[in-house]
Amino acid sequence: MWMSPICLVSEAAEFAARRHTGMSRKGRGDEPYINHLAEVANLIATVTGGRDAELIAVGWLHDTIEDTPTTQGELAERFNARVAGLVAEVTDDMRLPKSTRRQLQVMEAPGKSPSAKLIKIADKISNIRARIHSDPSAEERADLTDYVDWAEKVVLGCRGVNAELDRMFDDTVKLARSTL
Ligand code: ZN
Repeated sequence: MWMSPICLVSEAAEFAARRHTGMSRKGRGDEPYINHLAEVANLIATVTGGRDAELIAVGWLHDTIEDTPTTQGELAERFNARVAGLVAEVTDDMRLPKSTRRQLQVMEAPGKSPSAKLIKIADKISNIRARIHSDPSAEERADLTDYVDWAEKVVLGCRGVNAELDRMFDDTVKLARSTL
């Protein structure tokens, strides 16, 4: 079924909101998970001038397969094959231990499609921002340091698709490090 670009993005936001109901994100103030999805989708919309509605929809949906009982087939049926494929491309295999998943993200980043690379960078920007505290505890400092060090390695393999997004990532890292 064809959907207009606006309807596609709206449908994706609603679908993601329902699937992530009751989840909160790690970091500052236990914000509802949907705030993270809205941030990633909006970062993508901003740096691309809203030219690719499917990619903005992927911003909303990017954690549905990883964190909720959603399948690629279901997304393909409800949205389309490209949207479903991109969400699958940015999904970690949650059966693997965290350290392995992190290693794989670093190793696989350079081989990802340009669209998937944008989602990866926007995701890392959002996750770093959520870990920045004005007066961090020792534990928060350690968590932020650990996350930023890893995110920089992943993003190294994702750069060069969108200069504005690359710059936003660098600014976010700079801000994060200034609080440490
Ligand atoms: Zn995410």
